[in-house]
Amino acid sequence: MFSGLSPQPADGLLRLIVLHRDDPRPGKIDLGVGIYRDDDGATPVLKAVKAAEHILLETQESKSYLGADGDVGFVQLLEPIIFGAEMAGSSRLGGVQTPGGTGALRLAAELVAQSRPGARIWTGTPTWPNHAPIFAGAGLEILTHPFFDAETQRIEFGAMMNALESAEPGDVVLVHGSSHNPTGAELDEGQAEALAELCARRGLVPLIDLAYQGLGRGLEEDAGLARRLLAACDEALLAYSCDKNFGLYRERVGALWVQGQTADATQIARDNMLVVARGIWSMPPDHGAAIVRVILERPELVALWHAELDEMRDRISRLREKLAESHPLFAGAARQTGMFALLPFSPEAVTELREMHGIYMAGNGRINIAGLTEENIERFVEAAAPLLR
Ligand code: PLP
Repeated sequence: MFSGLSPQPADGLLRLIVLHRDDPRPGKIDLGVGIYRDDDGATPVLKAVKAAEHILLETQESKSYLGADGDVGFVQLLEPIIFGAEMAGSSRLGGVQTPGGTGALRLAAELVAQSRPGARIWTGTPTWPNHAPIFAGAGLEILTHPFFDAETQRIEFGAMMNALESAEPGDVVLVHGSSHNPTGAELDEGQAEALAELCARRGLVPLIDLAYQGLGRGLEEDAGLARRLLAACDEALLAYSCDKNFGLYRERVGALWVQGQTADATQIARDNMLVVARGIWSMPPDHGAAIVRVILERPELVALWHAELDEMRDRISRLREKLAESHPLFAGAARQTGMFALLPFSPEAVTELREMHGIYMAGNGRINIAGLTEENIERFVEAAAPLLR
C-alpha cells in the first residue's frame, strides 16, 4: 500500500525548534518559529483567555455537537472587528468557524475549486510557505507575481501590478491583510487603492488572509486593506486567524467569510462551505472559539484583551525601532509591521549565525522580531550585520 510514497524532508522550522532546544549555549537567540514572545522569551496564555477559560469551566453545560459552522456567536462577534460596524451582519457576508487560519484558507480554496474547475490563484513572491500546498491540495493552479525584494527591502509594486494586469477575470488574488509573512511589508494607501481598483476592473476575486489583526498597526488599521478590497469588489473571501492575536495557537481558531454579489448568492456559497467542511473536518474544534466568544461578549474582557494586544504590538514596534536605529542595513524594519522581517542572508550566513553565534532563523532569512529582546538585540546586530548581502 505505502510503497508509492517517497521520503519527506523534516519540516525546516520544526527541525530548528529541536536544534535550538538542544543547544546548550546560554546566550542562544531563537528568531525561528512565528509565535509571539515576551521579554523573557515566553509565550504565556493571555489573562483575558485565562479568565474566559474560568468562565467556560463554570458555565459550559454540554460538549455535544454544534454543527459544521461551529460557534455562530463567535463568527458574529468578530464581524464588527474585521469588517467594521457598517458591514457587520450584512446579508452579503457569510461566515463559518474553521480550524485556524489554515483551515479557512483550505476551505476557501476548496470552495473556489468546486465553483470553478480549473480556477487559478495568484500569490506574491515570497509568501507564507504553507500557501502553496494548501491551494495546490485543493486543486487550484498557482501563479506567482513579484511582491518584495529582500535586498532593497521594498515592495516591487510596479512589477506586481504588471503581472496582475495579465490575470483573467475570475482569477483569485491572495492578499495578506496585514503584517505580511515573511516580509512585514505593507502596501501604502495609494498602492492599496490601486490594487483594489485593478481587482474590481479586471473582475479578480481577492482572498484576504488576515492572520495578524492587531499585531501590526492596530485592530482598525490592520483591517483597512481588507475593507478597501471588499468595498471595491463584488465578490471576495476572507480567511481569519485568532491564533496570534488571542495567543491561542494550538487551539486552532479561525473563520472564513465569503462576500457574495447578492444575499442569495452569499447564502448558496455559505451552504456549500458547510458541505465542504463536513467532508473534511465535519466540525471545527470548539474550545478556542468559545474562549474568543466569551471574551468578545464581555466589555471588561474585551478591554483586557485590547490592553494585552497593545502590549504585544508595542513591544514589537519598540524592537523594530531599536533594530532600525542600530544599523542602516536594518532600516527597513521600522517601515514594516508585525512579527516578521525578511533579511537578505545567504543560506550559508543563516548556517553560520546558527553554528557560530547560536542565532536561529528560518533558512530564507526570515526573522521573528518578537524573539529579540532589549538585551540580545545588540549581539544579534553585531553578529548579523557583517553577514548581510
Ligand atoms: N496565514 C499566514 C500568513 C500565517 O502566517 C499563518 C500562520 O503562521 C496562517 C495563515 C495560519 O494560521 P493558523 O495557525 O491559525 O492556522
